[in-house]
Amino acid sequence: MTLAGKTAIVTGSNSGIGLGVAHELARAGADVVINSFTDRDEDHALAAEIAAKHGVRVRYIAADMSDGDACRKLIAAAGDCDILVNNAGIQYVAGIDEFPVDKWNAILAINLSSAFHTTAVALPLMRAKGWGRVVNIASAHGLTASPYKSAYVAAKHGVVGLSKVTALETAGQGITCNAVCPGYVLTPLVEAQIPDQMKKHGMDRETVIKEVMLDRQPSRQFATTAQIGGTVAFLCSAAADQITGTTISVDGGWTAM
Ligand code: NAD
Repeated sequence: MTLAGKTAIVTGSNSGIGLGVAHELARAGADVVINSFTDRDEDHALAAEIAAKHGVRVRYIAADMSDGDACRKLIAAAGDCDILVNNAGIQYVAGIDEFPVDKWNAILAINLSSAFHTTAVALPLMRAKGWGRVVNIASAHGLTASPYKSAYVAAKHGVVGLSKVTALETAGQGITCNAVCPGYVLTPLVEAQIPDQMKKHGMDRETVIKEVMLDRQPSRQFATTAQIGGTVAFLCSAAADQITGTTISVDGGWTAM
């Protein structure tokens, strides 16, 4: 239980990668705050479920990561923050000349600016203890581009840049900041796209995954949420004390191409 006694806050964690990260940090012994913008019974039940599974304290705190003040209040409401995982993110796909301005603004706010706001409030708490971890969930799209994803690619490149600056401003203070760059991860969101893709391309599940969805991922295998969570847990371990200001790709070779 390497992270016993630490409090971790994971933004956007009532599903997908964030939920996988929450489980792995709880498995490593951290108390965890999970978050999304909803405030439903099932969100709080999810926190209770993670707590019961791993024997740690888990709370659900609702906060909308598109709102800078709400981002800052999330950290304040948690009361403590040794580990901050900025994971909340959305996607929208359209050409630049047709990209809706509200979608651009929302993607920049949720995928990039939220990490600035949460980090700003979390760093003083970490400095007071002389220990901290900031892990930003970027993407292979933080290192490479694809057409029709202007806002997402811009935001994720921004997250990588913000991670480097955070690392420089905290170097030598017991605090590290890194960006994890997943390739295609099998989340409920991605799983839901498979039937449509099968229909569109007239392919079976295996073929559409390998030939269409994972055409840029040389392993032709999805990464899993547990693998992303495990990478975050590693970055929170003592072995990673001198890993800061860098990116770790979990992308089956995507960015080696
Ligand atoms: P997901 O849709 O399953 O999870 C996104 C999470 O963010 C959800 O919990 C959602 O409730 C939350 N969220 C959305 N808007 C929010 C808001 N305004 N305030 C608070 N929470 C909000 O998607 P995912 O695939 O798990 O994505 C998680 C992160 O991983 C994102 O930053 C995404 O860009 C990144 N990522 C995903 C993949 C992939 O293949 N799935 C690959 C690379 C990077």
